[in-house]
Amino acid sequence: MKCIVNGKVLLKDKMAEGVAIVFDEKIEKIIPTDEINLSDYEVIDAQGKFVSPGLVDMHIHGYLGADVSDGDVEGLKLMAKGILENGVTSWCPTTMTVSKAEIETAFDCVRTLKNCDGYYGARILGVNSEGPFINPAKKGAQAEEHILKPDADFVKKHADIIKLFTVAPEVDGATECIKQVKADTDVLISMGHTNATFEDAVTGVENGVRHATHLFNAMTALSHRSPGVVGAALSNDKVSCELIADTFHVDKGLFGLLAKIKGDKLCLITDCIRAGGMPDGDYTLGGQPVHKEGIKCLMPDGTIAGSVLKLNEAVYNLYTNSELELYEAVKCASLNPAAAMGADDEIGSLEEGKNADIIIADDKFNVVMTILDGEIVYRGK
Ligand SMILES: [Zn+2]
Repeated sequence: MKCIVNGKVLLKDKMAEGVAIVFDEKIEKIIPTDEINLSDYEVIDAQGKFVSPGLVDMHIHGYLGADVSDGDVEGLKLMAKGILENGVTSWCPTTMTVSKAEIETAFDCVRTLKNCDGYYGARILGVNSEGPFINPAKKGAQAEEHILKPDADFVKKHADIIKLFTVAPEVDGATECIKQVKADTDVLISMGHTNATFEDAVTGVENGVRHATHLFNAMTALSHRSPGVVGAALSNDKVSCELIADTFHVDKGLFGLLAKIKGDKLCLITDCIRAGGMPDGDYTLGGQPVHKEGIKCLMPDGTIAGSVLKLNEAVYNLYTNSELELYEAVKCASLNPAAAMGADDEIGSLEEGKNADIIIADDKFNVVMTILDGEIVYRGK
């Protein structure tokens, strides 16, 4: 049995000091340090740093040169291990709008790794299928030739592995698809890459949409006479919203406002592509060329193509550009996404009985240790 002491512990409702987290594979108890006998445990000294729940990235395409849509198990493993350095302990490998055959190959790779017995890195929760049921008018960096009419049967066929998928609620066939998926599966339905009006989006929510794919990006904007998908997502409490908090996709001036409006429905994501963790230069996304320079990834025509954001950086960006306490910013990258996907009974917060997914991070929220299922899987250099 292990125990972490001497940390600033980020619980779901406060920061606590002078407490010890006792764990094996699961968190056994969180109690005042002076109430336990340290010699009974393998002690990890947090040295005054932050002790946080492991982070949950529900939308990430690639990292360290690998991309989920490559359909390569080795690439998935590279990602699964790489993101541990960013404090991510659970994730959803995210496919792009590529050909149906390529999407299904990618799904199979995720199945293979998720269902294998051995350790492979950060825990795969399931796939985030971004498209192919989107609106060409808001395709962003998705390839238009692979966009398909929404098809509930496709989602149902893969409901064992799909955790969430993106659909444009206004396109032909979307309403029926949303209703069927809602009725027959527990897949989270997300509106995104959409040209919907406010009314279309509200209808989508009435039919079963419960999430919004990277809010503000690739959807109709909020205007006072035309509130758009952004207006519908912000005004409906049932809808959780993804935010790419790299300060480039969405201006940091909005972070605090979003946190106030969405509360525990705000989910930080990275939308990271294969250029993440790599030097500046030329890469691809869903078969299309992308140039990375600093925090920006652009296609030749200037379209933004995903990010190179790390989830621990997203937490720090939200924290430093809002009035949130750090434990509240952490929640947006742990408990909130876990809850949106119905996984919060096991992961997302430091609570007794949950998986011992724990990170230790410094003042800037750089990760110095990652613990997954009670095992130390990363130590900072
Ligand atoms: Zn994406």
